[in-house]
Amino acid sequence: MTTPPVCNYEGSDYQTSFWDKGGREYEDRTEAIALQRLLPKSGRLLLELGAGAGRNTPRYLGFDRIVLLDYSRTQLEQAQQRLGKSDKYIYVAADVYRLPFIAGLFEAATMIRTLHHMADAPKALGQVKSVLGSGGVFILEFANKLNGKAILRYLLGRQTWSPFTLESVEFVKLNFDFHPKAVRNWLKDLGFTIERTLTLSHFRVGFLKRIVPTSILVFLDSLFQWTGAWWQLTPSVFVKSKVVRRDGIPPHSQDNVLSYFKCPDCGNSPLIEKNEYLECSSCGKKWGVKDGIYDFREPIGESVS
Ligand SMILES: [Zn+2]
Repeated sequence: MTTPPVCNYEGSDYQTSFWDKGGREYEDRTEAIALQRLLPKSGRLLLELGAGAGRNTPRYLGFDRIVLLDYSRTQLEQAQQRLGKSDKYIYVAADVYRLPFIAGLFEAATMIRTLHHMADAPKALGQVKSVLGSGGVFILEFANKLNGKAILRYLLGRQTWSPFTLESVEFVKLNFDFHPKAVRNWLKDLGFTIERTLTLSHFRVGFLKRIVPTSILVFLDSLFQWTGAWWQLTPSVFVKSKVVRRDGIPPHSQDNVLSYFKCPDCGNSPLIEKNEYLECSSCGKKWGVKDGIYDFREPIGESVS
């Protein structure tokens, strides 16, 4: 099966270099506010796509259980160190284009700063739709090509690509910015209903971040976030959408983690629990389970016998 290329953070110190030491306190705090405004206060099971080192995970604690999904195993190991090993957190290394979950499993899903790396965004969003149940809430953050800085640069002739057209722009390899209308169209085509849009990072400007206290910028941004309902001209946009109804998929009520999974290659479920892997009884593939991380990226090599 061929799927689009993935941006792999394996071995990356992204959490430390970008968030902890990168002067991103302003962005981090405005995201916390947006999530609080958009996310249901409680629920049973939430899927965090592109969880990375678990920076946002503590903001989802109203949910009984959180599945942290990332393509990079080392990012998930960092998340484990941060959050600890408990029944509340399920760590899954997997490809977003081949999600290893049964249809309709989740009540909510979040994808923050992750669509940014999707070469085939509609395909990834389609996978998210398939694992949400009736009434499922999806909180999506995307990088907006129609932002003030890009518009200015384009009008001044210092940027070749147009921020006004619907196609996405790959400004660095596997880093994409999207047009808000294109994202809305994809969500609607997939059957999502858009409930609310917030714009973030109105003041992501170097000199402002240096001279104005972060708390003031965060407060002002929290006021301006609501203008996202009318226009979206900031580098970061949050969209809350909902799967209103899915026919023929009963709500999932089991607590057993094994019941969540399907084989990402052939779609068969349930998988059979073995000592250090889960086995697919249909295609025979084995998916590793090591140190509390389920690994659905590549099957364990067929034993040579
Ligand atoms: Zn299979």
